[in-house]
Amino acid sequence: MPLQYVIGVDLGGTNLKVGAVSTKGEVLSSAEMPSDVKDGRPALLKKILNAIEETRHKIKGKRLSGIGLGVPGIIAPETGTVIQSPNLTGWVNFNIKNALADKLAWPLYIENDANAFALGEGWVGAAAGIRNFCCLTLGTGVGGGIVLNGNLWHGVDGYAGEVGHVVVEPDGVPCACGSWGCLERYVSASALVRMAREGKDDKSAAPLLKSCGGVDGLSAKAIAELARQGDLFCIGLFMRLARYLGIGMAGVINLLNIEMLVIGGGLSKASDLFLASAREEMLKRSFKVPGHGVKVVPAKLGDNGGIIGAAYVALKGIGAI
Ligand SMILES: [Zn+2]
Repeated sequence: MPLQYVIGVDLGGTNLKVGAVSTKGEVLSSAEMPSDVKDGRPALLKKILNAIEETRHKIKGKRLSGIGLGVPGIIAPETGTVIQSPNLTGWVNFNIKNALADKLAWPLYIENDANAFALGEGWVGAAAGIRNFCCLTLGTGVGGGIVLNGNLWHGVDGYAGEVGHVVVEPDGVPCACGSWGCLERYVSASALVRMAREGKDDKSAAPLLKSCGGVDGLSAKAIAELARQGDLFCIGLFMRLARYLGIGMAGVINLLNIEMLVIGGGLSKASDLFLASAREEMLKRSFKVPGHGVKVVPAKLGDNGGIIGAAYVALKGIGAI
């Protein structure tokens, strides 16, 4: 019988990534394209199905045994229904699993994208061999996945791990979840841009605004580039972000007393600019033993983390690992 592989799909609000992954976690082939959520649900579903088909045609001599799909938002994993999703407007109470499974000849498993990411890092990434850890993904928003005793903690209704919506500023910036001052409003790529915009009238913001061609051109990437060159305004933005992240991390550590905190997502590419300071802030606020005991590390799987995590969900689902 030929060796088997699975396909992992990482559906994001901005990009759709699809890859073939071996039972050992190696990415055999991958593709990335814009998800174009604005084109509507049928178009995106079709795009996912096409990408799966194209990936399948690229792999020769191996048997496809299942498909895993990571979706941004609150997902009921057993049914595959999207309960809530700020990035997929119009998908609420939509059963994505049924919609796709009808058109696929392989078993399909759905998971929240940050949960899938955590499972991938625990499988062949930074947390391999670690049984108790939490993953935070700092991207457009902030996602979280909690693994306890080697198992993902979904919570009673599938809402667990939403570290991005832990409040770090009681009367802070309103959040799409309905609360105010959530961690996500201060430590995401969009938060960094917002904080830069808020400080635009500060004299020290001039070099950043010049390099971005004005307020509308501001980006997390540009802020990181200038911070690395020693720009004080941009360094200040990252320090502010680090402080809030440290507050959030201290809460996680005091609550869970875990072995490792893995920081992933697009913004983690700039972790050299904020992670050490965030850890310092965390140590000021957490109990000494769990604070000093926890390893705070950047994610290892990079842009393939979502694909590998979704693949893990499929392999686990079919009982291959
Ligand atoms: Zn929130």
